[in-house]
This record gives sequence, structure tokens and C-alpha cells, in this order.
Amino acid sequence: MSTFQELGLNQDLLNAITDLGFTKPSEVQEKAIPILLETETDLVALAQTGTGKTAAFGFPMLEKIDVNSRTTQGLILSPTRELCLQITNEMKQYGKYCKGLNVVAIYGGSSIHDQARDVKRGAQIIVATPGRMKDMISRRMVDISKIQYSVLDEADEMLNMGFKEDITDILSHTPEDKNTWLFSATMPREVAAIAKNFMADPQEITVGNKNESTTNVSHEYYMVNARDRYQALKRLADANPDIFSVVFCRTKRDTQRVAEQLIEDGYSAGALHGDLSQNQRDLVMKSFRNKQIQMLVATDVAARGIDVDNITHVINYQLPDEIETYTHRSGRTGRAGRTGVSMVIVSRSETRKIKSIERIIKRKFDKKEVPDGMEICEVQLMALANKIHNTEVNDEIEKYLTNINQLFENTSKDELIKKFFSVEFSRFYNYYQKSKNLNVSEGSRDRESRDDFSKNSNSARYFINVGSKDGFDWMKLKDFLKEVLELGRDDVFKVEVKDSFSFFNTEKDQQEKVLAFFTDYKHEGRFVNVEVSENRGGGRRNDRRGGRRRDDKKGGGFGNRNGRRSNGGDSYSKSRRSESGSREERPRRSRR
Ligand code: ADP
Ligand code: MG
Repeated sequence: MSTFQELGLNQDLLNAITDLGFTKPSEVQEKAIPILLETETDLVALAQTGTGKTAAFGFPMLEKIDVNSRTTQGLILSPTRELCLQITNEMKQYGKYCKGLNVVAIYGGSSIHDQARDVKRGAQIIVATPGRMKDMISRRMVDISKIQYSVLDEADEMLNMGFKEDITDILSHTPEDKNTWLFSATMPREVAAIAKNFMADPQEITVGNKNESTTNVSHEYYMVNARDRYQALKRLADANPDIFSVVFCRTKRDTQRVAEQLIEDGYSAGALHGDLSQNQRDLVMKSFRNKQIQMLVATDVAARGIDVDNITHVINYQLPDEIETYTHRSGRTGRAGRTGVSMVIVSRSETRKIKSIERIIKRKFDKKEVPDGMEICEVQLMALANKIHNTEVNDEIEKYLTNINQLFENTSKDELIKKFFSVEFSRFYNYYQKSKNLNVSEGSRDRESRDDFSKNSNSARYFINVGSKDGFDWMKLKDFLKEVLELGRDDVFKVEVKDSFSFFNTEKDQQEKVLAFFTDYKHEGRFVNVEVSENRGGGRRNDRRGGRRRDDKKGGGFGNRNGRRSNGGDSYSKSRRSESGSREERPRRSRR
């Protein structure tokens, strides 16, 4: 293992490195820096997030540019505003002793004129997102015709986000003989194509194996019925009282809903997605960094900029569409030498995806069981016991103790402990004692739909007077219903499309909302009629009383250390509350 000095960096950079507290180069830095310093070459570097790629290209670029010139010599492209700002900030810190250095960030959502003015003052290095960069080039606000070094950071992610054309366009304004350094966590075909088309005989370095996940992250999956996803999420959180996690959803809407529901259920959660204003996003990120938020629910795109080091769990509430994205998600934990867990909540039909991911990350998943209620009670109780054990006594309490001591005069220590913990335990116990097992088995060939159909007393079946004649297949109908009813992807199920009519299910507590919505709804000029169906697939449907009670459905788990108690409802429905009236009262969790 070499030192930064041995890599050949100049004194200005070494001083900054000392200030930053970096003691030795990371692997990607050790491999990339000497190559980039000593040769004028193109480079492809593959390394996971959190491995120190910014410095791997940043130090050499700072060493090589001429700070006495005001010409733009280096261009760094990155996928998101957050990353762009992060890189700019890092570059400024690395270059703090390079007198005359000017690094400018260019990104959407902020004044283009201010940015143009900053560039005009003489930016040797520009860090940009592709969209805004392209815009500024076409408005002649920047000149990149003399750059010598271009960096494509998080190349896989930029391509995932559809920036291929923008990148091509931007690079066409740069000189032929510049050097291009491409950094990426994974190497999908599209990235290989960029390397082939835009780079000349690049040197290649790989840290770890290509597309391979870091070894200090373990991977687990939990198989549940699609509709129990949210319940499973809460149990995973309850079973890990000190969780500090990012929960990934596929869509902005699911992200918002899951976060809202978690908050309502007493967890310290926040949403991060593209429909929020920049200000809102900044606030959420600030709370997350300060650990005021324990569960950050995010879309993949929004989470790109997250560089929080001590995330304990990544939870894949839904698997991503692109398998490569999984690597990015799980790379949010296990950073900076710590261990982390990446959990995936899957339905049975998704097990194939788990196998594909295993092939790509070259790691095996552990199939785990969603903890049952009693396990969670035990974990919570032990967490409380440990917390009490580690609590420092506040001397201010002395003056209140006389009366309390009097009360417990005749209570033994043993008995006192039992009583004390029973306060919490009874609450956990009452909540979880009738909770159902959420796990579904892999082996069983039963269609998910069938077995809970007969047992599930909590879903409602509907008849709707549109069918394949109207251009619907089950997927289109499901999408349509989700859209108009503003439901999540798991909330409409068992969709069966016939010629001129169809059937579908929702949770029972959505019934009011569904029926209300379709009282005067027109689709392509025709009234759409929805009724509760008594009939399904030949079987009688009116025997729903006496079905299995889904006790889990009531109430929301234990919430977090901020101590707010859940107060009912696991679905996204608001109507259940107004409908039931008799919302189950739960003991409030004492603030602690
Ligand atoms: P990547 O781009 O690979 O995801 P970053 O460049 O963002 O990783 O670095 C991750 C974190 O590690 C940053 O906080 C950075 O300051 C820190 N870091 C980078 N290099 C070193 C090093 N050699 N020693 C200690 N910390 C480092
Ligand atoms: Mg990076």
C-alpha cells in the first residue's frame, strides 16, 4: 500500500489531503492516480460507490491543469445536481491550496445567468449535469473547445437516466485529442459502447470484480404476498430498533405514500423524490444526515446524491427495473469499512430476479423469514432493557424520588423489574400476539392469488363494465385503475378481464372510495359502472364473514426511538378511518 506522496502528488495537494484527514489512498486512487499523472491516456475505471472515485480523478486533474490560465481545461459530467455539487465541493477542498483555482458547478434548477457569469470569470474546471451543460453550450455561455480532460462520472447512471444523447452532443464540442476518464460502478453494455465510441484505447482498471457488490454488504430477501409489502417493511424496521436506512421504491408516488404511511404509523421517515422542490429535498437530506430521520424513502434517481456513511440497512421495498440499479442501491450501505445489510422484499413471482441479481453481483442472497410478532417483542424489549442499562442517571430526578420510593416501599427489585417491563411488553404483546405470519413459501405452487382469495376476508371484489372489447388487458386495466383511483401498484389485484366486463379486487377498506369514484365517471364518453361483485369465477362470494382476520392490518408497528406510537392503518387508505369510526385505540408509546 503506497502513500499519497508516493503516488506523485504535489505539495499543495498533499497539504489539502492532510487537512482532509485522508491517511492512505483507497484502492481505486492507488490504481488510477499514477496512470493519470504519468500518461496522457483515456481511462475506464470500475469501482463501487464510496470507494473514493472523486479523488481518483480529482487529484490528477488538479495536478494537471494550469491555474494561471483562465481557460476551461477540465469538464466533469455527473448525473444529478446533488452529485454535481458534491463533486464541486470535494474539488474545491482538494484544491484549496492551488492558488487561482476556480471550480464552477453547472446544473439545472438554479439561475443559468449566475452560472454563466461564474464561468466567465475564468473556470479552469466545470462540473456539470448533462442537461444544463448542453443548454449552456447551445446558448454559447460556455466554451469547452479547449478542454484537455473530461470525466464521465457515474457513467452507468447517466446512461440509465437517458443522458446518452446529451453526452454525445456535449463531447462533440470538445477537442478530439483530449483525454476522457470514465468512472462507473457497473459496466452494462451501454457503458461499454460509450467507451468504445468515444475513447481511444483506454486503459482499464477494476476495483473488486466488475459489477460485483462490496463484500461487507450482506444480501437478504423476504418473500411475502405483494399486498403485505408494507407490513413486512414495518416488521423489518421494528425488528431493528437502531435502523438507519434508505428504503427504495420504484415510483415517486409509491415513495411518497410509503413515507407518509410510515410517518403516520409513528416512524421517523421522510420522502426523497423528484417531485419535491429542491428546498424540500435539501431539508429531508439534512434531517437524514442528522439522523432525525431513520428511514429515508427514496426513488433511485433522487438517491443518487446520497453519500451518508453509516447507513445500516438498504431496504428494497420493490426491486428496481434494471438489475444494475440494485448494485447502486446496496452500495449505499457498507461504506467506509462498515458492514451493512441490503434487504429485498419480494413476492413469489420475483424470485427469478433474485437469481439474476445473484449472478450479476456474484453474491448469494440469504432467504430470511419476516420476523414474527413475538420475535419483535423480544427485540424491542431487549433494546429497551439495554437502553435503560446504559442510561446515565440525571441527578435532577432526586427531588421527585421520595414519593416514588414510598410507593414502591414493599416491592422487591425482582417484582419492580417485572412490572416496569410489563408496561412496554404488554403493549407490544397485545399488538403482535395475533399477528399473522407474513412469509410465503417458495416451494408452494399455489398461485398467490388463489390461496388468499378463499381466506382473505379483507378484500373486496368488483365488477366493472369494461373489458377486452374496450382495449383493456389485465395489465392495462390495472394501470388504469391505479391511475384514476390513485392507488399503489399492489393495491389493485386479481384483475380478470373478460370480453365486455372485468373483475378486480382491492382491500376492503378501499371499497367506499372505489365505489364513490365510479359513481359518475366516464371513460371515452361512456359511463363506467363498478359494483361489488357477489360472484367470482363460479364460486359464491358472499361468504366472506368468518374469514381469516388480518390482525396485522390494524395499527402500525412500534415506530421509532422518537417514540411516537402508531395509530392504525397499514394501507394507504384514508377512508378506512372515516369508515370504521371505531379506530382501535392503542396505548401511546411513552416518549423516551
Ligand atoms: P465514490 O465517488 O466512489 O462514490 P467518493 O469519492 O464520493 O466515492 O468518496 C466517498 C467518501 O470517502 C468521501 O466522503 C470522501 O471524502 C472519502 N474519501 C475519499 N478518499 C479517501 C481516502 N483516501 N481516505 C479516507 N477517506 C476518503
Ligand atoms: Mg462519486
